[in-house]
Amino acid sequence: MASAGSKEGSGDGIAELARRRGFLWLAFEIYGGAAGFYDYGPLGALLKRRVEEAWRNFYLKEGFYEIETTNIAPREIFEASGHLESFTDRAVVCKHCKSFFRVSEGVDVREKCPECGGELENAGEFNLMFQTRIGVPKGGRDEGAQKKSEGYLRPETAQGIFLNFQRLLRFNRDKLPFGVIQIGKAYRNEISPRKSLIRLREFTMAEAEVFVDPGEKSNHPRFEEIKDRKLWFVPSEGEEGEKSIEEAVRSGIIANEYLGYHIAKVEEFLGRIGIPQDKLRFRQHRQDEMAHYARDCWDAEFFSERYGWMEIVGVADRGDYDLSSHASHSNTDMGVHGKLQVREGEAEKTKAKIIPHVIEPSYGIDRIIYALLESSLYEEQVGKEKRKVLRFKNEIAPIIAAVFPLLNRDELKSKAKEVFQQLRDASIFVEYDDSGSIGRRYRRQDEIGTPYCITIDYETLEDDTVTIRERDTMEQVRVPIAEIKEALFAQYHMD
Ligand code: AMP
Repeated sequence: MASAGSKEGSGDGIAELARRRGFLWLAFEIYGGAAGFYDYGPLGALLKRRVEEAWRNFYLKEGFYEIETTNIAPREIFEASGHLESFTDRAVVCKHCKSFFRVSEGVDVREKCPECGGELENAGEFNLMFQTRIGVPKGGRDEGAQKKSEGYLRPETAQGIFLNFQRLLRFNRDKLPFGVIQIGKAYRNEISPRKSLIRLREFTMAEAEVFVDPGEKSNHPRFEEIKDRKLWFVPSEGEEGEKSIEEAVRSGIIANEYLGYHIAKVEEFLGRIGIPQDKLRFRQHRQDEMAHYARDCWDAEFFSERYGWMEIVGVADRGDYDLSSHASHSNTDMGVHGKLQVREGEAEKTKAKIIPHVIEPSYGIDRIIYALLESSLYEEQVGKEKRKVLRFKNEIAPIIAAVFPLLNRDELKSKAKEVFQQLRDASIFVEYDDSGSIGRRYRRQDEIGTPYCITIDYETLEDDTVTIRERDTMEQVRVPIAEIKEALFAQYHMD
């Protein structure tokens, strides 16, 4: 048996492992790279896909539908959404080395340059959107024509959902509430991205937009299911501490049941994919850090050994900001007939139209991947050797099992390849490896978080059984080949 294992200190270990094992690579590396851009290697792409799939299934089960909207949109969309005017960050520049920094906690004009210690000065507000051109501008240098051809890469996926609101409402039989999800790229021209996956200029968001009658926000139909769950809350005013969702809503820390329900769902999802609960807290935004569209916002923050507390999901109450704004800019009716309230003795009346409010859990998939890598990595002493293990949950492990021949002999290799192919044919993503000693092959699978290793030996040729070694305990059991498929299949799927 292995010892419980220790955590890998500062997080430097994970950056090295992620590069070496093919999770994460600096984009454009052969040209020197560019800050804020990363590529996912083969294992990173598998891991990311599994997390996205888990997320999709989680919200589809809530009864939400997924849509896919464009990455580029014309200027007028972002005029209406407020991003052109307000999606900005403040920057400071070092008088000495000319490096730019985003003003945030830790960097401020009164401090010294984090790079060289030089004096800093204010460099103004920067809009974070990437601008592009749509087609060839007609009308030459005419300013109006130029503006018409101006486009932007989306800084969040949400706008594509708001723009389709009328059609989505009809799709949902004109009834509230309903939820819509989208997973896709978002682009932000961040001022000074210096922290691997934490601050990227191109990243993946997974967003859910929940449309609700404002009069119903304090009455979520499934609040009972989650009300007793306890989370760590850091409100913008008052004491932080552990509270049940119900206590937090009743005492006004969380403004309404819808917000409370979706905060609980964020915590549930993060736990399900393996983010440890003791490294999570929910922090409310102060007025001065709230996005222009939000009336309330809670961040799910993960405690990183390397970066400290960092936001991985934001849950915002966007009120009617977006729908009202698009309604007036596009001259479109975004109203919905409210719930019928018929009192005894009164004739049936249709309530006046209301503009729905939006509750939005907004997940940053790349930061979640970072949090998973960092919190899953353990280093253990096994006999005289150290082993590194990524203790991924089976639901998100990039590779569920590896198949090995015990020795480099043709008869074992062909049997192992047969088992490998059978599992692949059953849509179970296994790997085959016959290079190097069996010990080294185990170490490699431990480092990439593969839960099981299946070894074919001479006994296999006689009785069709194999050994299965479990990653965390390193215990081995003998199992008939006929049973592997079903056992792995059960492990490999979310529920
Ligand atoms: P926001 O709309 O700013 O609340 O962002 C929603 C989520 O997207 C955050 O919780 C982060 O996980 C993620 N995110 C925001 N900006 C970045 C970035 N520059 N790089 C990576 N992830 C980001």
